[in-house]
Formats: sequence, C-alpha cells, structure tokens
Amino acid sequence: MKTSRNLQFLIVLIAVSSAFGFGIQSNYEGPDQVELSLLEPAIVLDPVDGISRWWYTPSRKAHIFRHNYPKNVETKPKQGEDLRLPGNILPRLYNIRLLPFIEVGNWTTDGYVEISVDCIISTVNISINSLDLTIDQASITVTDELTGSPIPVINFIDEQSTRELITLQVAQPLTVGGRYKITMKYISILNTLLTGFYRSDYEENGETKYLAVSDFEATSARRAFPCFDEPTMKANFTVTLGRKETWTSASNMPLIRTEPMVGVPGFVWDYYETSVTMSTYLVAFLVSEFVGIPSDPGLSNVEFRIWARADARNLTDYARNIGPRVLEFFESFYAIDYPLPKQDMAAIPDFAAGAMENWGLITYREQYLLTDPSTASARSFQFAAIIIAHELSHQWFGNLVTMDWWNALWLNEGFASYMEYIGTDAVEPDFKMNDQFIIENLQYVFGVDALETSRPINIEVNTPAEINSMFDAISYEKGSCVIRMCADFIGFDTFQRGLTRYLNDNAYSNAGQDNLWAALQTQADLENVVLPATIKEIMDTWTYKMGFPFITVTRDYQTGGALVTQERFLLRKSNDSTDPIVYQWWVPLTYTSDYTQTTKRDWLPVDQVSKTLSNLGASANQWVIFNIDQQNYYRVAYDTANYALIRDQLMMDHQQFSDNNRGQLVDDAFNLALVELIPYATALDLTLYLKYERDYVPWHAVLTELNYIDTMLYNFVEFPNWKNYMTSIVEPYYTSIGFAETQSDPHLEKLSRIDAMNWACRLGVADCVQNSLSTYALLMSQPENLLQIVSPNEKSTILRTAIENGGQTEYDFAFNQYKATGDNSFLVAMCASKQATVLSGLLEMLLDPNSGILRSDVNTVFNNIANNPIGNELALDFLINRWNDIQNALGVTYFPTWYRYVCTRQNTQAGLDKLIQLRDAHLIILGNSNSVKQGIETVETNIKWVSLNEGEIGTWLVANQPARMPKMLYEQQTSKESDKTCNKIRYISSNIWPFKPSVNTGPLTRTLLIHASHLNMKLGLIILFGLVAIAAIQPVAETAAVPVDDVAMEAEDSAIDMMPDESALKIIMHKLEHWLKKCYKKGGCREDYGHHSYGHQSYGYGSYGHGGYGYGK
Ligand SMILES: [Zn+2]
Repeated sequence: MKTSRNLQFLIVLIAVSSAFGFGIQSNYEGPDQVELSLLEPAIVLDPVDGISRWWYTPSRKAHIFRHNYPKNVETKPKQGEDLRLPGNILPRLYNIRLLPFIEVGNWTTDGYVEISVDCIISTVNISINSLDLTIDQASITVTDELTGSPIPVINFIDEQSTRELITLQVAQPLTVGGRYKITMKYISILNTLLTGFYRSDYEENGETKYLAVSDFEATSARRAFPCFDEPTMKANFTVTLGRKETWTSASNMPLIRTEPMVGVPGFVWDYYETSVTMSTYLVAFLVSEFVGIPSDPGLSNVEFRIWARADARNLTDYARNIGPRVLEFFESFYAIDYPLPKQDMAAIPDFAAGAMENWGLITYREQYLLTDPSTASARSFQFAAIIIAHELSHQWFGNLVTMDWWNALWLNEGFASYMEYIGTDAVEPDFKMNDQFIIENLQYVFGVDALETSRPINIEVNTPAEINSMFDAISYEKGSCVIRMCADFIGFDTFQRGLTRYLNDNAYSNAGQDNLWAALQTQADLENVVLPATIKEIMDTWTYKMGFPFITVTRDYQTGGALVTQERFLLRKSNDSTDPIVYQWWVPLTYTSDYTQTTKRDWLPVDQVSKTLSNLGASANQWVIFNIDQQNYYRVAYDTANYALIRDQLMMDHQQFSDNNRGQLVDDAFNLALVELIPYATALDLTLYLKYERDYVPWHAVLTELNYIDTMLYNFVEFPNWKNYMTSIVEPYYTSIGFAETQSDPHLEKLSRIDAMNWACRLGVADCVQNSLSTYALLMSQPENLLQIVSPNEKSTILRTAIENGGQTEYDFAFNQYKATGDNSFLVAMCASKQATVLSGLLEMLLDPNSGILRSDVNTVFNNIANNPIGNELALDFLINRWNDIQNALGVTYFPTWYRYVCTRQNTQAGLDKLIQLRDAHLIILGNSNSVKQGIETVETNIKWVSLNEGEIGTWLVANQPARMPKMLYEQQTSKESDKTCNKIRYISSNIWPFKPSVNTGPLTRTLLIHASHLNMKLGLIILFGLVAIAAIQPVAETAAVPVDDVAMEAEDSAIDMMPDESALKIIMHKLEHWLKKCYKKGGCREDYGHHSYGHQSYGYGSYGHGGYGYGK
C-alpha cells in the first residue's frame, strides 16, 4: 500500500486535508485519534515544499503526515498468536458472490462464499477470519469434495468481536489430504471506515452519487467475506458481482460475461475469470457509475484502463499514458511478464491510503491518479508518476511474491519505494528521480530513524493494530534505502539479475528476507562478487537493528591513511537507556578524492568500532569524500582539516563533487552540528559556496536545514545578519532561475523555482516581491483568469507575498476569492500578513460562525498564524486569553493540537513558562496529551539550541557578512561615459576616477553600502549632490557602516571573490537629492521600492559571472 506523502503542491494538499482525518483507522482510539485527525498537513510556509508538517524534533526532514498509519498511537493490548489461524486447513479456491445495495437507506451487501480447502492437520475445528459480518448460520455447509457427502456442522463459535474469526465445529474430524468445500451466506454493511468493502460518494451535476469499493490491506478482506486472511494462505478467487444494469463493476480479473439477475429486475451479474494464486489482501471489487477509459493499446501488450467518475474522464490522460509505459519497463527490468491479461487503475473519491496495489485493479486516492494539466503543479505530476510506478512495481514485488508475514512488510514496501524511482526515471527521465532519492527518501527517514523511539525494519507483529503500525517510514523509506545500499555494494546489474532469480524462485508464493538474501548471494557468487561476509550477515545488521551510524573519518595527513569509526546517530540521548543492543553495523565504505576515478571501497565490520585505512590515495592537500552519492545509509563526519579542504574546493569549483554528495555534505553537516558533533561554524562554512550553486538537490537539502536556524534566530539580534547572509546566497540562485515560468522549463528547474521564490520573496528580494505584487495586481483585475495568470507552482508564494507586502486591497481580494471559490490557498495567504491587527482579526473570526471562514478551515488558519513569526505570540495569547470563548465556539478538540502548533517557534524561557502555565490551568484537557508533551519538548529543545548555538552562529555571521548590496539603492541609469570609464579603469590602478551613475532607492535608510575593493578613496571625494557630502570611505575591510549625518557610505572588500583585484568602485551617487527629498516628504521611500530599477543596464562586467549585484538577469 502506498500511503500519503508530502510531494503534493500546496493547493492539492489543502483540498485533501480533510481526508487525512477521515482516513485514520477505527482501531485507533483514545485522545490521540482526535489530535492526529486534526493534524492535517500544516501549510507552513517553509522552503521545502510549502506543505510539510515537521516531526517534533529539530530535524526538519521528518514530518508525520507522509504516512497514513500513525505509529505513535496507542494500540490494543497484544493478543499474540491467539489471533493467528491454526494452519490446519488451507484454502485453494474461493467462489465469492456479492450483491451490494448502494443507496441511501440500504447499504447492505448480500454475500455468498464457497471456499474449497485442503486439510493439512486433522481437526474438527474450521477457523476462518471474519469481522463485522452477519453470518446466516443455517446456510453453512461443509462437504467432502471427493465423495460429495455433507459433513454436519455441530457448533458455530462467533469470535468476530475479539479474535476476528468464526469457528465451525464439524461432527467428524477432517482427514489429512482431504478436500472440503465450505459454503455460507452472510450480510455485510458498506461501511464508511474506508476499509473492507465500503461506500464512497461524490457530486456530479449537483447530485450525490455513491459507489462501493474495497480496500483490504492489511487485514480487512475478512470484513468483506469470510476468508483465511493471512498472506501465506494464497488461493484462486472467482468473483461474481451484482449491480444495477446501468452501472459498471470491476475486479482483479477480466469480465467473462454479464447476465440478468433472476428475480431482481434492473440488476445483472458480472462474472469474472478465476484469478491467479494470490493473497486475500489483494482481492478487489468496484461497483460504481464510473467509466473505464482505455489506454492506447500500442503502449503495452497488457490491456490498460483508468476508471473514474464520468466528469473526470479528461483528467486521466497522464495516468493512461504513463501507466502502460511503466508496466512495460518493469516487464523488461524484472525479465518476467506481467501475469494478468489486464491492468485497471481506479480513481476513488474517498480513499484512506494513497493507493493500493490490488492485483489487476489498483485503486488510488482520486487526486493522486487524476491530473488536471491546467491546475497540476510539477510536484503533482511527479507524485502521480511516482505513485503509479510504486503500485505497478508491487505487481511483482508483493503480488507475485508476497512477504510471508507482516513483519517483513518492508520487502513489499521498501522495494516498491525503491523501484518507484527506477520506474519513474525510465519513463520521465526529466524528473531526475534518482537524484531526488536522497532528499525524498533517505534524508527524510534519517529524521525518524535518529530517534530512540524508532524501530527495526523487521520486528514481530501479531495484532491488526500492530500490523497497521508497520505502514510507516521505516518500512517504506528506510526499506528503500537499505535496498539501494545493497544494490550499490553488490553492483546494480548483479542486483537486478538477483531480483529476477528471487522472483522466479518464489513466484505465486511467499518469501522472507532470507529468501531474498539467498537469491542475491547465489547471483553474487556466480558473478564473483567479493564481500567480507554473506549478504544476509551484512543486511541483518541493517534490518534487525534500529537506527543508523555516523562514520567519523579522521585523516592522518602524514601517512595518507585514516581512522574510521562508527557510532549510532541519535538526535537525543536519554541517560537511562537500558537497551542491550550493540549498535554497530556492517558498514560499506566508499570514498574518493577524484570523481573521475573508480570509487574506492572498504568495510567497517560489525564487531569493530573503528578501523584504520592505511592509504586513502589522497595527498595531504587533497580532500576526501566518503559515502559516494550517499548510496549508503549513514552520515559522515570529517576532521577539521578535511572540512576545510572540502570548503575550499566548493568555493573554487563545487562541481568537482557530485550533486548528491553536495546535498549530503550540507545535510550531514547541519545534523552533526545539531547534536554537537561538529561546530556550527563548520556547517555554515559549507554554505559559503551556495552563491554559486544552481542545482536543485543540494539546495533543497540545505534550505530545509537552514530554515530551522531562520526560525530560531528570528527574534534575536543576529537575525539581520542572518537575513543578509541568506539573501546573499539565495538571491543569485533566484536570479539565475528567474521569476517567469514557462511550460517547457525542465522539471527540476520548476522545483528549484519553488524553493528559490519561496525564500527570495520571504527575504524581500525586490525582483521576487515586485513580480509577485504585479502578478497579484493582474489577478485582482481578472480573477477569472487565475489559471492563466498564476502558475500552480508559484501560486502559494505569489499569494503570500502579495499579502505580506500589500495592503488592505490585496487582503480584501484574497478574502473575497476564498469566500467566492472556496480556494483556501487564499485563506492561507491571508495568514501570512505582517500586521498584528490583521492576524488578531483573523483569530477572532474563528469564533464567529458567520465570519466567512468555514469551520473546516479553522484549524488551517490557526496553524498558519501560529507559524507566522508575527502571529506566533498572538496565537499563544489568543489561546490563553480566549480559552472559554474558543471552547464555547469550537469545543475542546482543537486545544492540544493548537497548543503544539504554537510551540514550534517558541524558544525562550518566558515562552515556556507561559506555555506551562497554560497547560497547568487546563490540566484536564491538556495534561495527558501527547501533542502537548511533544510541544513542550520542542520548546525545551529550541531553548537549549539557542543557548548553545546563538553566540557561535552570531560570531560566524559577523565574520561572514556578505559583500552584497542591500536593496536600498538601485542603479537606474549608467551613463555611457562612465561605462566606458568603468571598463577602462578596471585595468588601471592608482587613478582618480569620476564615476556618476544615478540610482533609485528602496526603503529610507541612513546607510549607503557600496562595493569597493583595493581602492584608494578619500574623504570628501564622494558627494551626494545637493544634500550632504559623504565621506568616511574606508578602503578595505570595513564592514560596519559609518553614519555621517543622514547618509553614510561604506566600502568593503569581501566581494573579492567576485571581482578582479583591481576592480573599481562601481557606483558613486549623484542626483540623490531628488529621491531623498521625495522620501522625506513621504516619510519613507517604500513606495519607490525598486519601481524603476528593472531593466537597468548592466555594468558590462561580464566577468562577474555570478551576478555580483544580484539583480542582473
Ligand atoms: Zn506499497
């Protein structure tokens, strides 16, 4: 099963957020259920994707909503083996006939099942899984298939409510080797739990339409028909579905024929072919008014169809095109034909998981399968491709060969989460999914797996609740990471042939991870792959131990060798851990000093904490990188000297390292700094090169990390320096990509633009702000043309920026759009206002049912205000001061969640005191809540982080203030004369040089900052015409502004890496009286904010390739 992931663009997630709550399984009860159902994907305006909800640890990579089954919820008490079937009877063939009545007032399904079984161990008890079924006891028969003679059933034991099974006691023992047929009739209800055989609805032409659809994984087939509901108990299934003659149905296999239903006018029976041998959880039914739209038959040998509501038929193009192509790819990759004659994929309006890989009838949450080219973001397309590839890869991994029990769920899900990248890459190479793996899967799951509360990939599970808890990031993402690591150390081609061997050896059957290791070992031995231990010995350390190591590389610059050590990486260490496990692994080491050479390989054995590598093959002044392309599942820390060598290489030519390793370097460094393993200064040093970085992967990796610092420093004195620094690295990235998106832009450029715009606008980069404002202005004049004016990739940033920088008009327009269209991305944007009065007003509106804010959006509003740096304190005060009013208007359910939302940004003792006071004042509601505990823990962690790191980061920022022009002055016009002079003067030292460009201004300022380097400037030579003379230009290394009356100037030389040594003073102001007077008259220059600065002429300093001014296009 594929669960909900974070890859969707903001608007899509807003639309689905309600489904998350609805999707929580019914077996989760207690306070957490309510809280979790409220924790919709937070629309936090962060640089990752604008949508991620973070885990409560400071690692920004983990967020809890990617998976539908929350793992930290209370599960039912263990009932252990008592819930397992005895295995004395095994099914061979099911004949299932279902007639669902799908109408208001009657949601019953008439069911009939015949199960042909083999007796393995003689018994008088036939136990069959069954849940919430009303069995017609009089209809039960047991027959000896060989003789045809009936065997009396003398007792019927119904344990559905406890053990989820029924037991038929027969009069005489069934004999070993005997074949029997069991039949019974029953009634089930089409539930609204989104599991079993359930009902869903949708609107079409103003009319509510209903449908019945199944979703069985892991243990819900028993809700639809009595069955042996364990993955090893495979059988064949012959399905017959009854429906209204105007409706349609679908199941795993092709339809054979349709016949009128005798005695029920207007109804028909659809008879389906008998299935291949498979597990119960893969059986699927769909009865609906959907239409099935076929793919182009030329794309695949397999008949391919998309089922969707009739209105949505034009949204199926992408899935219809990509599905068959991915299927064809997997057939050749696995070297095994797809076993069924057809593949259907259905778009279900209400669906708990993201999708489900039922063999031959894959079901999807509607918005994941259907893509509207006019509204879908680049991420939506990527997600559709990924999820389709994931489910199709399951047709082999999971369906053809199934894990033998749920403890090995990762064999299904880890593989599918790995193969989704390979499958998508095959049909959408432009997406560069193999490059994105490290940020989407690996660095993400590091955040979860670095907690002491993580779990091993493979653990014992028995109860349905325990089984459902396995559908988490450890099975999916960590599973995919260790598989990728294994493929790397045995070699990808050997790995691929080993997979084919494994699938063929275990086809139509079950396997555990040992079967996989055995098949890979056989292949590796055949191909003479040399390993230090068996694949099983190596991989067992990664699948049976939770967590992962960090590797410390300490080079010996004399000998050319290095000491390599392993230690578990933990985000927090508790002092009282009694865990007896030795956290060491078989660690594959890969390293290089030159990517054009073959990667060097070695191993750190499981029984060794450290090992000396005698020769790294690098000279003392050469860098060394470990964990090439982050193929392996661990972090790497280096000695100081090697970090310096890496930093210097990044500054000189960062492309000497692969994209993945650049993404790894920054992600590792900030996480190591977070747990005090390296200084923050070292991590920050690695960001200096980012002004040259143009690739998506390293940027996306680092922005996620930098966002935490940004959040923490916001209210501290270091923030202006931090903001300057961030602007200096983000602006060149933004400028290189530009604001305008075109359809033909490469996929990763679109994703880069989302990140770059998000940050550039937030940092106030004028081009981004101005373009957002003018786009919004156009939208205000033609709201009906939203889709033409605003790209879905840019929508959230443009709307947010317009609200942040606009006034009442922009705000009113957003609110009207929200009220008129229900598009709550406008509402989310409103919460980004920088005006406290506006935010307070929004909070007050939550209490007023007639305010225009829908009840379903109340949580979204509070969350986004709490995450707004200006709104955070207001939100806390609102909770404190308006508790009773909130309770009267909205009840108590929101309190714990809202409490936690507020905690995310809090990082002072005063704030913590206030929060604890609030909790203590409402102990009944807040006292026992996990959300509240996690919230307080977050604040404590934040406070500790600030006390440890604020000073160090502040010092680093002072030393590394950028040589960038603040956006106070914009060159408006440069005379040709000065251009010429300028170009000439670059090569002439010791000259007196008059240079007179005119400039425009941004906000009112007392400081004029000008780049200059190695210039002999003299007091009094620089004049602001008409107002005041400027002096005090220091020739070098003066970073502090020197105020002189109303205006000051400053020179600095830290831009030296952008300029030749003899570079000239680039601008000298004149004509400034004009703007200054204007500004003073208005009380500020904000209205002039860069209005005339676009389309300025460049200085013609082409050699300053990295855009030293930051605003050249
Ligand atoms: Zn899956």
